[in-house]
Amino acid sequence: MSLVSMRQVLDEAATGGYGVGAFNVNNMEQIQGIMEAARETASPVIVQASRGARSYAGDRFLLHLMLAAAEEYPEIPVVLHQDHGNSPATCLRAIDLGFTSVMMDGSLLEDANTPADYEYNVAVTRAVVEYAHARGVTVEGELGTLGGIEDGVGSGEVNLVDPGQAVEFVARTGVDALAVAIGTSHGAYKFSREPDGDILAMHLIEEIHRRLPDRHLVMHGSSSVPAGLVRRINAAGGRITAGYGVPVEQIQRGIRHGVRKINVDTDGRLAITAAVREALAGEPAEWDPRHATKAARQGMREVVAERMRQFGQAGHAADYLPLSLERMRERYVATAAVA
Ligand SMILES: [Zn+2]
Repeated sequence: MSLVSMRQVLDEAATGGYGVGAFNVNNMEQIQGIMEAARETASPVIVQASRGARSYAGDRFLLHLMLAAAEEYPEIPVVLHQDHGNSPATCLRAIDLGFTSVMMDGSLLEDANTPADYEYNVAVTRAVVEYAHARGVTVEGELGTLGGIEDGVGSGEVNLVDPGQAVEFVARTGVDALAVAIGTSHGAYKFSREPDGDILAMHLIEEIHRRLPDRHLVMHGSSSVPAGLVRRINAAGGRITAGYGVPVEQIQRGIRHGVRKINVDTDGRLAITAAVREALAGEPAEWDPRHATKAARQGMREVVAERMRQFGQAGHAADYLPLSLERMRERYVATAAVA
């Protein structure tokens, strides 16, 4: 079994100059699709559970799905990450359960909707870092707010990250990875026209990377919302009006400037919905639900494998041996002693 800390996976990605997709898990078919894609492309992988997933499936079911993935695919380094923790208590519970990485989203208050002030963000993030690093677990923080609301998370307001504040935030909190708001949104309705580097404020990523060259940057809301998937859903009876997502070329530009973790949720949902609708519409006499859920797993696998190749993580699963969380803890202690 190859459970790894996210810090190790992102450090290796920085060395190799690639990005690692973080894919959301809600059920068995989704995680099986992700792991099949990781095996097919020999990729390290971050599987993440949102609070919405935890309330849909339940903490223990999700955790054991992820643990089963790590057992079944021992050649793949797997990070168990908690997406958008809304409070230190949520993050601490995930760490105690066995997650190897957590996100403390202190850009929002505990209701996960109201933008928080900067000092609140520093305080809650710092508290989680202290608890997590003492156990070798990685912490991702967030600065600025993303647009859109997904799984009940978000204020719907876009507040771009301030690079000077990012430098100070990292120094005061000690986070391993920083999600930076550059104009992306959660969900399938991100932009009304194809976004270029200006709409996406890619210059902020470049400036933050210049000032924090050894900190890992994270892009949220980075599904590409492929028009082909939307067309397939609608051709099979759906009625969705998705906008534009984040073009893969813009993500690749981010990867050249310090983006190491790319959150992809919507594309997996779209792929599954397309596959299930086609399966049901194509065989109206079929009554075995596995006909549709098998198609869901395959749809997930295809979109995830494509992103793994595009982000550059493909082929890197066997580059390194996973370090234990105890070893990571010692590393944090050693760095703190030097500082
Ligand atoms: Zn997010």
